[in-house]
Amino acid sequence: MNIDELKRNVVKAIDDNKDIIIKTARKIYSTPEYGYKEFKTTETTSKFLKDLGLDVKENLAITGCETVLDGAKPGPNIAILGELDAISCASHKDAVETGAVHACGHNHQVAGMLGATLGLVKSGALKQLAGKVTAIATPSEEYIELDYRDKLRKEGKITYLGGKQELIKKGYFDDVDMAMMFHSQDMDGKDALVGPVSNGFIGKKVHFIGKQSHAGNAPEKGINALNAATLAMNNIHAQRETFKDSDRVRVHYIITKGGTVVNSVPDNVQMEVYVRARTIAGMLDASKKVDRAIKAGAMAVGAKVEITNIPGYLPILDYPEFDKLFKNNLLLLGTPDDKIIKGGDFTGSFDIGDVSHIMPTIHPMIGGVKGELHTKDFGVVDEETAYLLPAKAMALTAVDLLYNDASVAEGILNNFKPAMTKKEYLDFLTSVDNVEDFEG
Ligand SMILES: [Zn+2]
Repeated sequence: MNIDELKRNVVKAIDDNKDIIIKTARKIYSTPEYGYKEFKTTETTSKFLKDLGLDVKENLAITGCETVLDGAKPGPNIAILGELDAISCASHKDAVETGAVHACGHNHQVAGMLGATLGLVKSGALKQLAGKVTAIATPSEEYIELDYRDKLRKEGKITYLGGKQELIKKGYFDDVDMAMMFHSQDMDGKDALVGPVSNGFIGKKVHFIGKQSHAGNAPEKGINALNAATLAMNNIHAQRETFKDSDRVRVHYIITKGGTVVNSVPDNVQMEVYVRARTIAGMLDASKKVDRAIKAGAMAVGAKVEITNIPGYLPILDYPEFDKLFKNNLLLLGTPDDKIIKGGDFTGSFDIGDVSHIMPTIHPMIGGVKGELHTKDFGVVDEETAYLLPAKAMALTAVDLLYNDASVAEGILNNFKPAMTKKEYLDFLTSVDNVEDFEG
């Protein structure tokens, strides 16, 4: 069978089954769950795959599941990913009691991944392909509920707060050669964006420890931890002109505990900080300066400070040759060229960035939605564009990669040198994961 015919069959299989794909996206939307708690979502995802007659492995990292589709001959393994978790946005009209809602569109990703899998299975395309396609439903992309995840860490149930970090560590990407996933995005009437890059980040929990005393009678006997934090924030501002423009550094923080009672000198003040940058060197440089700024705040008032650094996500690296395959399939599916944005500069962070350091990866943005991500305004407006278009484009991209003895995938892989090996990646996470005590 020639590749055009094969692709037509894959698209037809997805179109013939579009109702079940759309229904599944809606079902997941109705049961939003936070990271490492996506039990119902995993069950729905797993059932869809089992109904296709596939073997499913569950509980990859507390939640999550995967299935492997074998081609006719050995060859590269292409992963299609979808994220299971929701975000907190209690003011969204569809938020459930916990405040959770799919205001980041991860249910679209899962529907797209399931749709692509269905298309490849029901069309019988795998018989014409060399290699494998692995569909992986990944847990916990949103970097939230840090205390809950810290507890899981202490209980030994996870090592990392991010799902893809954890899956890489646990070996689920060991036999994967290339990965693809999309993200929903409102692009002002455009249908897609291909080839985005993004910032990575390091997270920090900061604990200033001062000395309590009566704020009216004896402030001279206290050590004011809130003053230490205030100075630290101003010190961080004084670093901003030192950040290289090309590193696109973003430093943001909140005070999660500002004191206990107003008539006592505060002795326990806590902050959460994100340090984001376009490059790992930029992340480390900014992180070092932020730590210095925090310690200087403590030193000025004689407080102690404990800085807990937590590995966040890595910047997204783009792979133009791989992006081009996806874009060509969007064009083939009828998306006009002027509705496809080329490249995109995102200063937020995604854990697919970690995967992109180890293997060729694509992370296009797809429309069919309105409103900013993570806000009450976000929602789907065109389900065919939001779920079915990426399902088809990812399935067709897998066909391109694995057709003709996987010559296209082999071509990309032969020229590929990973930014990091798995070992280098895990060593980097370990090097960032530390606690520093400073006596000011
Ligand atoms: Zn997201």
